[in-house]
Amino acid sequence: MTRNDDLKARYEAAFMPNYGVPPLALARGAGSTVWDVDGNAYLDLIAGIAVSSLGHGHPALAEAVAAQAAALAHTSNLFLHEPEVRLAEKLVELAGGDARAFLTNSGTEANECALKLAIKYGKTHGRSYFVATENGFHGRSMGALSLTGKQSIREPFGPYALDVRFVPYGDAAALEAAVTADCAAVFLEPTQGEAGVVPPQPGYFAAARRVCDATGALFVADEIQSAIGRTGAWFAFQHEDARPDVLTLAKGLGGGLPVGACLAFGAHGSIFAKGDHGSTFGGNPVSAAAALAVIATIEADGLLDHVTEVGEILTEGVAAVDHPLLAGVRGRGLWRALVLTAAKAGAVEAAARAAGFLVNAVQPDAIRLAPPLILTAAEARAFAGALPAILDAADKEN
Ligand SMILES: *Cc1c(COP(=O)(O)O)cnc(C)c1O
Repeated sequence: MTRNDDLKARYEAAFMPNYGVPPLALARGAGSTVWDVDGNAYLDLIAGIAVSSLGHGHPALAEAVAAQAAALAHTSNLFLHEPEVRLAEKLVELAGGDARAFLTNSGTEANECALKLAIKYGKTHGRSYFVATENGFHGRSMGALSLTGKQSIREPFGPYALDVRFVPYGDAAALEAAVTADCAAVFLEPTQGEAGVVPPQPGYFAAARRVCDATGALFVADEIQSAIGRTGAWFAFQHEDARPDVLTLAKGLGGGLPVGACLAFGAHGSIFAKGDHGSTFGGNPVSAAAALAVIATIEADGLLDHVTEVGEILTEGVAAVDHPLLAGVRGRGLWRALVLTAAKAGAVEAAARAAGFLVNAVQPDAIRLAPPLILTAAEARAFAGALPAILDAADKEN
């Protein structure tokens, strides 16, 4: 029995079956490469779902985490610490200033914070309902799930206490029709991540900004998957210069350490009164130090421009592949989906893994790529070069 098979059998016995059994047990990584417990190497093109922004074993992250853990790992919110203050200041600066932050352990919790802000805003101004998008994803807690449009994960746990109205994603006219002066808040992803890296028509975020300005609804941007360089900008909203009222982020922020944030701009930064919200672990010193190391490395190494360049190289390489199973490629920066002509994403994911590449079958007909932001041009070309044989192998599966 391989070490992979041994761990998979023990995993299956010890864990709830909600994830199924993952195909590999990973042991270590360096740069954009990871190794499984049997010593096989893979080029990591999914980065733990857009999380490992500096790749694996990055010295800046490892040193910041080790030093902070040795100095002080936890304070709770009964005491403050310098790393959280520096992180909140930095996030506000990167988002354009005039905002206040709340730090969390995850994306879902960042959205719970945004939702509580929106509920309080709605109660204060007599606004009773929320607007979100079909197929959108905002997390799996009962609050975040209320806003999640993806039917398969939403249905089993309803009904929901909040009045959430769903509109087709990317349709500015449908959004305008759904948002009235009774709407408390609109929750939007800048590109739908879990739905398969689906970008809207250009101008959608700017249109959402105008609709919210006209009606007084809060514009909440869920940038949990898109923020901190993934699209070649710190935040995806910056591509359209359509600043939301509330912004959530998480995944890539800590480079693998659990940390998220909710930012609220202008007067919305002071919606909560003392006692309105809290978290024991949120913004803990180790996660805050990790996030500061991620941001400092992106700045020092010019990774925003690098993401744009390597993202183009990856897309050009994939677009040059002529194969009956491949319909095209969409997305921005190092956040892309290969669109298939048939529901064979599972087979493509497995064939890629067998060829030494980790990718994600995000939808039956879409493969998500969200590699470390440090992915090299040579690594992007290596994947594009291997793609025809991967698609051939997947095509043979039935
Ligand atoms: C991943 C994700 C979430 C949930 O974040 P968790 O860290 O898994 O709780 C919410 N919204 C979007 C857009 C996401 O991609």
